[in-house]
Amino acid sequence: MSTKEELLDAKRNLDLIHYIKSQCNTKDINVGRSTFLVPCPFCGSGSRHFSVDRKKNLYHSFNGCVPPGSIVDYLINAESLSVHEAIVKAIKLNE
Ligand SMILES: [Zn+2]
Repeated sequence: MSTKEELLDAKRNLDLIHYIKSQCNTKDINVGRSTFLVPCPFCGSGSRHFSVDRKKNLYHSFNGCVPPGSIVDYLINAESLSVHEAIVKAIKLNE
């Protein structure tokens, strides 16, 4: 598998909400079939303005403290990784 395919695979299959919860030790509220709200991992806001779509595996912050994105964007922003490091980590997490 090429790196690009592995990355697409990771973006699709890695459970973003599960990963965020494991990192932030936080609880989610399930507000729809595949939508979860958690306290924001970026600005630390206690209000649940951070949503994760499990189906699309994308996150979105309602107050715009961080641009919406995928697991790779999450790793870049939350863990201060470079794009390359984030891709490598996402692929590893998906193994
Ligand atoms: Zn925030």
